[in-house]
Amino acid sequence: MKRLSDIGTIKDILSRYGFNFSKGLGQNFLINPSVCPRMAEMSGAGEGVGVIEIGPGIGVLTQELCKLADKVVAIEIDKRLIPVLDETLCDFDNVKVINNDVMELDLNALIEEEFSGMKVVVCANLPYYITSPVIMKLLEDNLPIEAITVMVQKEAAQRICAEVGTRQSGAVTVAVNFYSKPSLLFSVSAGSFMPAPKVDSAVIRLDIYKEPLFKLDDNKKFFTAVKAAFAQRRKTVLNSISSSLGLEKSAVNELLSESNVSPQARAEKLSMEDFYNIAQRL
Ligand code: SAM
Repeated sequence: MKRLSDIGTIKDILSRYGFNFSKGLGQNFLINPSVCPRMAEMSGAGEGVGVIEIGPGIGVLTQELCKLADKVVAIEIDKRLIPVLDETLCDFDNVKVINNDVMELDLNALIEEEFSGMKVVVCANLPYYITSPVIMKLLEDNLPIEAITVMVQKEAAQRICAEVGTRQSGAVTVAVNFYSKPSLLFSVSAGSFMPAPKVDSAVIRLDIYKEPLFKLDDNKKFFTAVKAAFAQRRKTVLNSISSSLGLEKSAVNELLSESNVSPQARAEKLSMEDFYNIAQRL
């Protein structure tokens, strides 16, 4: 089996397939040999477990997942990588590569088709240009998955894993905490990739709740409230919500006091319950 974190191996593959990295697709491949085994181990991949990987690249993480899990389905948008993956994953019979954009796929149908009777987890070194949309899709589609373990830019990792109600938190922190318990696993230096990105990365894990934190008639209302409150995060919630939703200040003021939230507070100071109370009255 080829050691895919080895720079010589990568260069050989690139030249044989005439492959050049696409910046637009966030192609920074891992060359630090210790990262993928650690990520795969911490993702929950194991016996009786199926794994969805997003963006396998040349398969460096895929190989480690295949060693541990019953089955791996890897979704890669770049069709130039499909023949490469055919070669690098040829030692495994428990892997399927799908050439598609993860944002276009019906992941509930995919899980039903591919992972019958298995626990399912997601593990990926995410393309940074769509980190938040991918994470939100995985959470909002209500997939029957246990955990999401992903590499993201360090700043995004810190934001996602911040405590709700602190300065580091943002709309994504609240959204992630609605569906899961996030934790920051470990940092990865920019030099661990080829080509090296400008910033460091980190691996995070989201343990998905069986049910979202709150029962709402319409989850969308919760996210409307969160986005509106954070839209102008330096302003008060009163100003941010009224200007981003185009509502009269007096109406928002009333809504906030009924929700027991100070109109003068900043969104970053609000708790999950505060957002829930606002959402119920929106
Ligand atoms: N897993 C490899 C590694 O760790 O070396 C590659 C990770 S690289 C950061 C991101 C990968 O995601 C690339 O292979 C890229 O082509 C792929 N990708 C980018 N956008 C995608 C999308 N919308 N759907 C599926 N794959 C995508």
